[in-house]
Amino acid sequence: MSESKTKRVYGIDLGTTYSAIAFIDEFGKSQIITNSDNERVTPSVVFFESEKNVIVGKIAKESAKTDPRRVVDFVKRQMSDKDWTFTVDDKSYKPEEISAHILRRLAGDANKTGEHQVEDVVITCPAYFGDLERQRTRDAGKLAGLNVIEILDEPVAAAINYGLNNKDSKGKNVIVYDLGGGTFDVTVVSIGNDPNKNEISIVCTEGNHQLGGKDWDDQIVQYYVSEFQNQTGSSADILADQESSYDLRFNAETDKKTLSNKENIKRKVTYEGEKAVVELSREKFDEATAGLLEQTFALTDKVLEEAKEKEVAKIHAFLLVGGSTRMPQIKAKVTERYGASLGITPVEFDVDEAVAKGAAKSGEIHVIKKRLDDAIRAMTDGEDIDTLPENKRKDITEKAVSKTAGDYELPTTTVIDIKETTIKKVATKSYGIRALKNGQPVVRNLIIKQTPVPTEGNQTFGTAGANADEIDLVVYVNNESEADTQEDMSEQLGNAVFKLDGNLPAKAPIEITFQLDDQGSLTLVGLDKTYGKTITANFKSDGVMTKEEIEKAETKQKDITILC
Ligand code: AMP
Repeated sequence: MSESKTKRVYGIDLGTTYSAIAFIDEFGKSQIITNSDNERVTPSVVFFESEKNVIVGKIAKESAKTDPRRVVDFVKRQMSDKDWTFTVDDKSYKPEEISAHILRRLAGDANKTGEHQVEDVVITCPAYFGDLERQRTRDAGKLAGLNVIEILDEPVAAAINYGLNNKDSKGKNVIVYDLGGGTFDVTVVSIGNDPNKNEISIVCTEGNHQLGGKDWDDQIVQYYVSEFQNQTGSSADILADQESSYDLRFNAETDKKTLSNKENIKRKVTYEGEKAVVELSREKFDEATAGLLEQTFALTDKVLEEAKEKEVAKIHAFLLVGGSTRMPQIKAKVTERYGASLGITPVEFDVDEAVAKGAAKSGEIHVIKKRLDDAIRAMTDGEDIDTLPENKRKDITEKAVSKTAGDYELPTTTVIDIKETTIKKVATKSYGIRALKNGQPVVRNLIIKQTPVPTEGNQTFGTAGANADEIDLVVYVNNESEADTQEDMSEQLGNAVFKLDGNLPAKAPIEITFQLDDQGSLTLVGLDKTYGKTITANFKSDGVMTKEEIEKAETKQKDITILC
């Protein structure tokens, strides 16, 4: 038995509020792993009980009511903040370290289910995460002792789960409206028409990583506070008190979920000996949160417009994904707004699980394709198979398919299916550099968002003086679609330093190329055009841990036991 047989790839939806882990069973179906609380999703909440003991999940969430200073949640929202840390017992933790604890809990639960140890994983992230957040998500996996084979966009994962499980999805354009606990993204996906191929192409995507179910909860919290003040005449600031504030937030989420099934709820709010009983109707809740919903519509309009520009005008299916789409207002208002204009009825689609399941499927595709490529390479002695005569090509491909199927104990049809699967993605951000235009500083985007990836863009610069020994460029990321944009519309990613030999004349041309791979990872390459020499660049997004920091954090992780 080959080593690979016992190795599975796991798909992890590392969510802002809840996370889930899935694998592909022997029938090729994605299965969610139930956690040790017997639930299919695990709250992404971390409770530092002591320096050595960290509790992740339901108990951590409940502990926040009594011990809020030791509990951290919504950490995914901090992935883009280079300076954010959570401090407890005089120790500070970066977002990737806290995310690693969540991943360790998920992997630990999966390890308990059988003989398969979790090692190779695909972790999902919001589509519009940039290089920094993606690298940090990858590092979180590494810190958790996992081998991250792919960082996959959440809507792509949902689309894979939809496209590969619905044979009637062929030739359809689908919009995925994903409203989770802390993030929103909306994506147009095109599913290829060829019956012998599985082609899933992302057309365009938009999103807001500060918009999710939490914001709906916050509206309820605000309402409770103001009603408490009205009823009691107290002007006390309940939210200034951490325990009461957490209690209110916790109750608000519970009440929001109840309002998905009931029309009215009552909530007792007590503070400093005063008590109020607050009533909230679904109608009032919907009214108070209409502005939030409108923000999702603005992005949906934008993505539909962008799809039209790319000649994807007809949308055949509208999928609602993410726990927050359980709120009745979402389906009702989305239908009202888009049902008639697009001529379709939005449908909930595997709301809590689509992303983890799609990630597991993507992992399987990744691994099987790689194994198939390796088998082909071994059979062609490293020669490119496309250069061989057709009959030889066919013969080798069949043998490689059969070997891979045997190694993985899969039907050959499954391996052929995977071989014919392609997932095409787009850049979800624009990447540029600081440049001067008519004497004014601008950000010149070398990669423009919504361009299919992998992609690259370049620009040639002249060295300032003779014998310069480096070029130092400031790299930016932004959401703009123009070639030139302003610095205040962009976020600085970091500095790229290109080392030169120091023997170039003044104004020597140096070509800088940005390469973005299909996982959203940015690499910078330089070319000294005078001598035709490639120049190495030192670049990593500011805020990404250094090798030494990773090693230190790995040691820190080893000291900590993760409890449920
Ligand atoms: P996700 O990130 O997709 O796991 O979604 C989590 C979000 O969905 C959280 O904000 C939850 O409060 C919310 N959610 C889950 N179930 C419901 C429900 N029945 N009604 C309203 N919101 C829900």
